[in-house]
Amino acid sequence: MNPTRREFLGSMAAVSIFPMEAEKPELILFNGNVVTVNAREPRAQALAISRGRIVAIGSDADVLHLAAASSQKIDLGGKTVLPGFIDAHSHPAMAGVMHLRMVDCDLRSIAAIQSAMRERAAKTPAGEWVLGFKYDDTKTTDGRPLKIEDLDAAVPDHPVQIEHRGGHTVYCNSLAFQKAGISDKTPDPPGGKIDRDPATGKLSGRAAESARELFNKVIPEKLTRDDHREGVKLISKMLAKTGITSATEAQGTPTDLLAYQDAHEAGELLYRAYCFINYRYIDSMISAGVRTGLGDEWVRVGAMKLVCDGSISERTARLSTPYEGRPNDYGILVMTEEELYSYGKKAHLAGWQIGTHANGDVGIDTTLRVYERLQKESPRHDPRFRLEHCTLINDDLVARIKALGAIPTPFSTYVYYHGEKMRNYGAERLNHMFALRSFLDAGIRATQASDYPPGEFIPMMALQSEVTRTDMKGNVWGPKQRITVQEAIRVGTINGAYASYEENLKGSLEAGKVADLVVLGRDPLKEDPSTLVTIPVERTMAGGKWTWEA
Ligand SMILES: [Zn+2]
Repeated sequence: MNPTRREFLGSMAAVSIFPMEAEKPELILFNGNVVTVNAREPRAQALAISRGRIVAIGSDADVLHLAAASSQKIDLGGKTVLPGFIDAHSHPAMAGVMHLRMVDCDLRSIAAIQSAMRERAAKTPAGEWVLGFKYDDTKTTDGRPLKIEDLDAAVPDHPVQIEHRGGHTVYCNSLAFQKAGISDKTPDPPGGKIDRDPATGKLSGRAAESARELFNKVIPEKLTRDDHREGVKLISKMLAKTGITSATEAQGTPTDLLAYQDAHEAGELLYRAYCFINYRYIDSMISAGVRTGLGDEWVRVGAMKLVCDGSISERTARLSTPYEGRPNDYGILVMTEEELYSYGKKAHLAGWQIGTHANGDVGIDTTLRVYERLQKESPRHDPRFRLEHCTLINDDLVARIKALGAIPTPFSTYVYYHGEKMRNYGAERLNHMFALRSFLDAGIRATQASDYPPGEFIPMMALQSEVTRTDMKGNVWGPKQRITVQEAIRVGTINGAYASYEENLKGSLEAGKVADLVVLGRDPLKEDPSTLVTIPVERTMAGGKWTWEA
């Protein structure tokens, strides 16, 4: 789509100026191709910014005319400007501390992982834990997952635990199992699984879901308050570089909430955080009078987080029909419907938004039943129930989501980045997964969501993945769910703002909203969809300040 200049100018309303801001703008960005995501004024050329807010937006002539002698003016050279991207489901504070203290195992062979772990062990006193993360069994060239023997051979004298990229399973060496009190004979805990070699019955090295807690109990949590702040600082820079200006901490704890406040106070927080609170902390939060929305435009208390089923990338999501080639495997339900309901009721009555991890169609159905029951028993105005991930849908589920006004946060980059995992679900099922086309057609406000670390958070990758439904190797997965670039931009901006009750604050470029934006090297609306991921992010601004400049 290549609008002529006349159409372009014709699509602009007269300059709109935020009436409350009488003062002169501090900064004016002009000569831009500004995609506002505001239906009343879809395109603009210039923005005036003062005290972190957009005070005027419109044509160059109208906005430049507001400049005072003190106003800084930046010529955008015709570059495309979009609202800053909102990652509606991610784990940034958690990922930040992981990057600080764990070995990044996003490597392409078991040998490479062994040597990275060995290297870290050499610098770690014997007996202390050596931890890794972002391991992905489908991305190594070995064609088989890590085994207990691999880790014993690499690191014999330290307990080792490597988290799968999906975050629901771990791979450990013998010493780690010993420390966790797990032997070949230990039964699977409820909601969890300790894998064994089918031939010998011996531990294979992998533990899933609630079985992880046996390790969590014995891995010392040595992180200080400062470490958590440092983690937010580190991840802030990583997100800003890609054009993200807001993110939801989807499994937040009081520690994360504090880390966000500390980082913000230190001037190190570069994105707006909507910090979910894990259900385990909900009683103390409610008794302290806290609920969703408390905070300010930088650090805000988000929804209470519940978890219904397993993960897509690790093939533990609960499905109504089994995984391809594994006729008895339907995945895992992590919490019972009654547990979801009893936590949900507490939070719902106390005015909290609820966000429940639900991937498989059975997980989504269960979660919706809980939400429907809560709304029926105690109707609340605009509860904006969230379905975290909401991966595998059917027509009935979509209709119920629409009727409830619920918000799905499907994985945005999985098709592109995790293509090799799609085979586990099969071609037919893929047409009902990450189902943005179905959601948008039904008028449901689905969001962009990376789930980092499990998924990549690069917004341009999200656009490409959602628009092309094609993976890195060129395989197409679920083409019926393709959306347009324009739609994908809305999903990544204003829909994300809606999901946190902040659609009047951010998500589009309008006078009165915060100055959160991204300047791109090329216009995604004119780009070949198969190269969207290569569009460079030249600058990112949050609250009127550049958080990234190439
Ligand atoms: Zn998540």
